[in-house]
Amino acid sequence: MLVFAKSDIGLIRQTNEDSYACILPGLFLVADGMGGHVAGEVASSLAVKAVSDYIQNHFTDGCNREALLEQAILEANELIFQMSKSRDDCAGMGTTISSVLLDGDTVYWGHVGDSRIYILSTDGLQQVTSDHSLVWELVQSGNITKEEAHSHPQRNMLTRAVGTSSQIKVDTGSTVWRQGDFILLCTDGLTNMLDEGKIERIISEDRYDGEKAVTTLITAANQAGGHDNITAILLQNEGI
Ligand code: CA
Repeated sequence: MLVFAKSDIGLIRQTNEDSYACILPGLFLVADGMGGHVAGEVASSLAVKAVSDYIQNHFTDGCNREALLEQAILEANELIFQMSKSRDDCAGMGTTISSVLLDGDTVYWGHVGDSRIYILSTDGLQQVTSDHSLVWELVQSGNITKEEAHSHPQRNMLTRAVGTSSQIKVDTGSTVWRQGDFILLCTDGLTNMLDEGKIERIISEDRYDGEKAVTTLITAANQAGGHDNITAILLQNEGI
């Protein structure tokens, strides 16, 4: 497997509130924090660290990986929620988290918020996760198109986030990736700037140079306006 990852502040924001981690051999996470002042950065970095630590401390060969991801995100939720109560400068903070745990050809994932996990296979680019956002619900109900969602005034309104309440529902699942397939984890600074056709073309055109593909994705998001922080992790299945 090959791993390529990059985070960029974008062209408008003063800080980068995205966090990510690539923990070999098989744990990858992106998080997109929200909250005033430093709180967004605190929330996303704490989520990535809490989930990573929990999985590294509780992983066993025979464990249920979906349940492990769920427990890890619940733990992160508890830690962030408690900190938001105890620190004035962190009040109301929260974050997305999208995570994958690889086991051979199986990709286990756990997810809350509007960051995304995609798979690019011979079937094309497919979104694995659902966005927990108002605009996602409007798209699903047929009120707006996915393209209209990019510029919707309430596109940043989440229906679920890590750390904003004591209880949270975590989405988990698994999918299979084969030799030649890619997995992309990314924040909405990428997907609000680039449509999926463009993302698919960039990865496909640079399929033998993943580092260039990630750089091109971020450059293209900035050329489209760079309204938000942009983070992408690209995994390539090279087979055995
Ligand atoms: Ca964002």
